[in-house]
Amino acid sequence: MIRMVDVSKTYDNDVQALKDVNVEIDQGDFVYVVGPSGAGKSTFIKLLYRELRATKGLIMIDEFDLMKLKDREVPFLRRTIGVVFQDFKLLTRLTVAENIAYAMEVIEKDPEEIKQRVTEVLNEVGLADKAARFPSELSGGEQQRVAIARAIANSPHILIADEPTGNLDPNTAEEIMALLEEINHKGTTVIMATHNDQIVNSHPHRLLEINNGTLIRDEKEGTYENEG
Ligand code: ADP
Ligand code: ADP
Repeated sequence: MIRMVDVSKTYDNDVQALKDVNVEIDQGDFVYVVGPSGAGKSTFIKLLYRELRATKGLIMIDEFDLMKLKDREVPFLRRTIGVVFQDFKLLTRLTVAENIAYAMEVIEKDPEEIKQRVTEVLNEVGLADKAARFPSELSGGEQQRVAIARAIANSPHILIADEPTGNLDPNTAEEIMALLEEINHKGTTVIMATHNDQIVNSHPHRLLEINNGTLIRDEKEGTYENEG
């Protein structure tokens, strides 16, 4: 359901961040994207949710052809994809519940459905008691849980995570990992860029390794040693 054929990305400054990447990811897969800093992991991920356009190649996500997709059609793609980041990117002036509701309001869900779904996803991430708090009142791990709740609020097929444990201590990283695996077990494809080798090696999943813009490894349950 995700297919990249000969995908390359060259930035305006002529940095070739990805070179001829070919990959297929099935619905329900859990996939790590690993590699050293500057390898092209974020670029790979940004191409998937059309934060960036590829310079060349084919990218299909479900029925969406990302090279042909018009900018005004991107919101339709984003309904099938939830994204979480290393730095959470929560809206600081909104409460936890409002942050999640906002993601549903922008696609014009009706208020009653939003209310129900906010409660449901907060239960799913174990934060039902924090609905009225502001992000600044929460720990890093809790903020990442809110970000995950927001990302799954619209029931996407795909959850993309760019270094989701990068700002978290090892125990909290484990909890976030368990949550991502739980979401994956319910059928959501999870694609996670990381250089946390401890997590990768203790939670084996499919592993894509990118080095200097090239996909150099695609293993069903690969291990990884990061040099950093
Ligand atoms: P990673 O996520 O693995 O650290 P990135 O995808 O962020 O790698 O970067 C891959 C390469 O592309 C690096 O050389 C980086 O400096 C470059 N790069 C990333 N974003 C941009 C950009 N917006 N403009 C120019 N070069 C970029
Ligand atoms: P990450 O480590 O999460 O990949 P980076 O620090 O590499 O983040 O990049 C932060 C932002 O700056 C990203 O939006 C990336 O696209 C952009 N960026 C990275 N490298 C360059 C570069 N050489 N020139 C311009 N923008 C860049």
